[in-house]
Amino acid sequence: MNTAGYVGLTFDDGPNPASTGRLLETLAENGATATFFIWGVHAQQNPELLVSVREAGMAIGNHTYTHPYLTRIGPLAAYDEIERTQQLIQAITGRTPTLFRPPYGDTDDQIRSVAARLGLIETLWTVDTRDWTGAPTEAIVRAASTVAPGGVILMHDNGSQSTVDAVPLILRVLADRGLVPGRIVPAENGVAGKNGTGKTTTVVAP
Ligand code: ZN
Repeated sequence: MNTAGYVGLTFDDGPNPASTGRLLETLAENGATATFFIWGVHAQQNPELLVSVREAGMAIGNHTYTHPYLTRIGPLAAYDEIERTQQLIQAITGRTPTLFRPPYGDTDDQIRSVAARLGLIETLWTVDTRDWTGAPTEAIVRAASTVAPGGVILMHDNGSQSTVDAVPLILRVLADRGLVPGRIVPAENGVAGKNGTGKTTTVVAP
């Protein structure tokens, strides 16, 4: 089959007992890969779920410990938020993340440099499904379907039933377009952009 390109599927804010397992099942059934940007607090509460994400072969990214607006708390606190989460993910999964997503997409040069000191590359998105607003399944699928090759879709692993229901439909739409869920990696000569236009990463074959 000809591939029209790769897209990044991302699920933020888990792990969550109400959605992580269902998302992993759907991804496995479709042979699809994704990146889970997890909260430290939620990983601490559900370490076995984080292990299951790892064992399913999914990428795990750092989404801070308590999900603050990082640009408002000062660089020391921002460092602490990200560093503690790195330590926790390493302790639970044995792997150290290389991808970082700032909560709310709230970032600046200082936050990016804090992340870089911890070996992390900022990973934003190109399509926001707005599943975090309580959008219905159809709206989530419609939004995700607009993704361009190389794009990154923002979704949430936060217990949302609408998201869980949308994922198999999204995977079908992507397959119909020849788009394959891929792996998010640092871009060659990547430069950071504004929220939604980040060019720090690219998507490659899984
Ligand atoms: Zn988040």
